[in-house]
Amino acid sequence: TLPPDCPPDVEQLGRSTWTFLHTMAAYYPEVPSYAQQRSMKTFLSTFSEFYPCNFCAEHLREEMKSKPPKVESRWALGKWLCEMHNIVNEKLGKNIFDCSKIDERWKDGPKDGRCD
Ligand code: FAD
Repeated sequence: TLPPDCPPDVEQLGRSTWTFLHTMAAYYPEVPSYAQQRSMKTFLSTFSEFYPCNFCAEHLREEMKSKPPKVESRWALGKWLCEMHNIVNEKLGKNIFDCSKIDERWKDGPKDGRCD
């Protein structure tokens, strides 16, 4: 890893961004209003336009064409994002994440309380 005062590389940017995106999805409303659903769609579309890794953003936009964001509930958004991340994981040869564990990983922490 780079010294902490260097500009982020693709890996560090990715880690920070996934942290933000999964945490945002974990706290998205259980029952979002139509306005909130529209805002989230706009956000994700804008995000995929400006994400500052060109080949990452291009790949994301391509995937979003056949798998548009699911924004109708907290659960749906979290699952969609987990699946998007898994597509990238697969492409990079990383482990596939179990999407039933997103709340434990990004919101509630493990049951043994070690993150409390
Ligand atoms: P990361 O993949 O950054 O994951 C961070 C943590 O998230 C993991 O430790 C794990 O606890 C958790 N996690 C893993 N998978 C999931 C999941 N499916 N759902 C929920 N939580 C999960 N890099 C490239 O080289 N090429 C690309 O095309 C590319 N595209 C990207 C597109 C986007 C939108 C983003 C945000 C990043 C992209 N990256 C890309 C970066 C890449 O995904 C990783 O972030 C980077 O390689 C660092 O990986 P990591 O092993 O630290 O874990």
